[in-house]
Amino acid sequence: METTTNQLSDRINNLATSATLAMAAKARELKAEGKDIIGLSLGEPDFNTPDFIKDAAIQAVNDNYNSYSPVDGYVELKDAIITKFKRDNNLIYDRTQIVVSTGAKQSLYNIAQVCLNPGDEVILPCPYWVSYADIIQLAEGVPVEVQTSLDTDFKMTPEQLEAAITPKTKMLWYSSPCNPSGSIYSEAELRALADVLQKYPEIIVVSDEIYEHINYVGDHASMAQFEDMFDRTVTVNGVAKAFAMTGWRIGYIGAPSYIARACNKIQGQVTSGANCIAQRAVITALEAPVSKIQFMVDEFKERRKLILGLLSDIPGFECNEPEGAFYVFPNVSYYLGKTLNGTEIKNASDFALFLLEEANVATVTGEAFGNPNCIRISYAASKEQIIEAMSRIKKAVS
Ligand code: PMP
Ligand code: GLU
Repeated sequence: METTTNQLSDRINNLATSATLAMAAKARELKAEGKDIIGLSLGEPDFNTPDFIKDAAIQAVNDNYNSYSPVDGYVELKDAIITKFKRDNNLIYDRTQIVVSTGAKQSLYNIAQVCLNPGDEVILPCPYWVSYADIIQLAEGVPVEVQTSLDTDFKMTPEQLEAAITPKTKMLWYSSPCNPSGSIYSEAELRALADVLQKYPEIIVVSDEIYEHINYVGDHASMAQFEDMFDRTVTVNGVAKAFAMTGWRIGYIGAPSYIARACNKIQGQVTSGANCIAQRAVITALEAPVSKIQFMVDEFKERRKLILGLLSDIPGFECNEPEGAFYVFPNVSYYLGKTLNGTEIKNASDFALFLLEEANVATVTGEAFGNPNCIRISYAASKEQIIEAMSRIKKAVS
């Protein structure tokens, strides 16, 4: 007989299911039932991993890379990461400061586990990436949401940061380019946040830069580039997005050595390190000039223009112009509290569900990102799919 959820720990019973993955699973299920679903829920490039990276993986198999790697990653990969940080971000890390993990998601999980004690507060500018709050809660930390709005392009101001800090504040986590808003903090904006943090030297910053290369406006700035922030910033990055390698599961951090050592220790007990073949392939990916992946960024840029144009034609979808990543995050509060086609739309989750059922388009509710008035639409899909999806949505809400 099947046991009930009562047999499970409070930890897992209290954990939310990942909204992005849940929506993608639901869309897959409906597709399998024969429904013509357009999946715009998952942030996953629709390109194949470039051949030069695949070739490196095949070579690694033939070269008999089949044993455990060092827990924190092959030395050659760490060196490629060190070179990448220097080349792209002007950050100087040494090998003791780098840890390779099973995706940036695991990097974030490690950081929460090694930095947080029960009750420690973590400031999250909203909207934030879906898994931050749950990863923090799993470590018994307390997410402290800071609401932002379209007026500040969904970015947290220094005043808001200052107001959110309490004696219990341990960390600040954010992504730039941001998933889901696409907003990018400029160097000056990061400096202004760093100026506030000067008064609170104990606060550790997690700067999630996984969308670094998917940037339509120019320069990428890192919190760790400021000398006074370097020793208390963890820079998170990975290959999933820019190199179309989501399933290869490799992410990494550059961090103060004591944090890197702790992440190494936890991996030693939990995973024994990331997949060896994927690690070898990522050496080749990171050593390649960024120009090799520019074609994907150019294509995303065209799709961004396309989707923003189509959305501006649908009433009640109020958008910022995302500067990076591949999401739009329209405010749909116009529809909340209304009844559409007999369905009462109480909140953004109802609206996302309505779009799935009425338009057969999968999106994600903004609630999962700490913003109950928005939905997230991924434009990592073909232009044909984007055009068809927006036309269906327009029809469903009219
Ligand atoms: N951070 C952000 C902002 C993301 O969007 C994602 C989604 N992939 C991750 C981290 C996790 O990346 P990975 O697939 O490398 O675990
Ligand atoms: N990061 C992607 C997203 O936000 C992938 C899903 C996930 O890892 O949760 O859709």
